Amino acid sequence: MSAIKFRGVDFIEFDSLLSDDERLVRDTTRKFIEDNLVPIIEECNRAGRFPRELVKPMGDLGFYGASLKGYGCAEMSNVEYGLVMQELERGDSGVRSFVSVQSALVMYPIYAFGSDEQKNAWLPALQKGDKLGCFGLTEPGFGSNPGGMLTRARKDGNDYVLNGDKMWITSGTIADVAVIWAKVEEEDNKIRGFLVETDRPGFSAQDVHGKWSLRASVTSGLSLQDVRVPACNLLPKSDGLKSALMCLNQARYGIAWGGIGAAMSCYDCALQYSLLRKQFRDQPIASHQLIQEKLAWMITEITKAQLLALQVGRLKDEGKVGHQHISMAKRNNVWMALECARLAREILGANGVADDYPIMRHMMNLESVKTYEGTQDIHALIIGAAVTGVDAF
Ligand SMILES: Cc1cc2nc3c(=O)[nH]c(=O)nc-3n(C[C@H](O)[C@H](O)[C@H](O)COP(=O)(O)OP(=O)(O)OC[C@H]3O[C@@H](n4cnc5c(N)ncnc54)[C@H](O)[C@@H]3O)c2cc1C
Repeated sequence: MSAIKFRGVDFIEFDSLLSDDERLVRDTTRKFIEDNLVPIIEECNRAGRFPRELVKPMGDLGFYGASLKGYGCAEMSNVEYGLVMQELERGDSGVRSFVSVQSALVMYPIYAFGSDEQKNAWLPALQKGDKLGCFGLTEPGFGSNPGGMLTRARKDGNDYVLNGDKMWITSGTIADVAVIWAKVEEEDNKIRGFLVETDRPGFSAQDVHGKWSLRASVTSGLSLQDVRVPACNLLPKSDGLKSALMCLNQARYGIAWGGIGAAMSCYDCALQYSLLRKQFRDQPIASHQLIQEKLAWMITEITKAQLLALQVGRLKDEGKVGHQHISMAKRNNVWMALECARLAREILGANGVADDYPIMRHMMNLESVKTYEGTQDIHALIIGAAVTGVDAF
């Protein structure tokens, strides 16, 4: 491990815009990550290992479904939840992805579209981390355009029978329950959500191997072959693709904050390194103008991203946020983080490619983060449609 220890990043007294509670949540999460994830993450990344030992402790700290009300959830504001995501991703995008999926893509749809029985059966256990979930929307042939999905549900007496394949599913092989999106044949192929216990006959999951990104997160393919679930496993208030997109909006919001965390990690590491590393006339590389220009770019973009995320979070807390606002924050902040990772990698020279430092790992992780939950291009189209009124998909 390098001697560089994260010191936090705040150029314009951003902390003064946060309440005491918001700072407390941020600092508690930061300490948890520093004490528990930072010491093991490079080993996890090398081994392609999800740090499962952190699942329960993260549940104890209230990270799962943190902004939901009741069912043992922490009832955080959206800004507090965002700050948790920032700190998790400062540690690793894969661990943040796990928490995002459990919270925004599994607990949220049960909370928003589920029956009381479903909520009582699943939410307390998911909140504690006693049960884990995954979200199956993407298919081998349908990523950016999930509306084309082939997965079907057919009513058969008091059951539904599901058939199809899902691909690139975070936590697929470790999940107890999968939220599966399928076209219901009896409802003119309307897309609806189903809770599928992963031990049901006909359900199988296999991990994707050879990923160079999010190596500390489990990514899987799911296969559903005549999987029979009782009709009460349908999420009764799910109503078309828009319900799935509402879940994605929750997750995208968290990613907008997460990107800041990854960028902060890269920036702070590069800044400290530049003051230690000497080249030419025994001077620290921080004294060279081109190094300073890179650091200035990074801190400026991080600061802008913080303000964007905070405003979107405040709007969300006031019930005024639009999906286009979340798209802008996700798109900008992940792009910004990836650019910071690339500049920070340059500042570290050869050391930048080694896992003594977190930068290359963040850079590789962010390539997935840029693609999932709506690619950079798709978010441009969402923003474009919002400003022009013309849909370009
Ligand atoms: C590590 C990882 C974890 C994931 N976890 C999950 C998960 O838990 N659950 C889940 O359901 N999915 C998950 N995904 C899938 C992810 O959401 C999709 O990869 C994403 O939606 C993009 O789909 P695609 O990869 O099929 O790319 P495609 O849709 O094939 O897109 C390929 C390229 O074409 C561009 N493109 C497509 N359409 C247009 C257009 N109309 N105009 C301009 N450009 C366009 C895209 O921007 C992209 O650059 C995960 C992906 C990864 C990498």
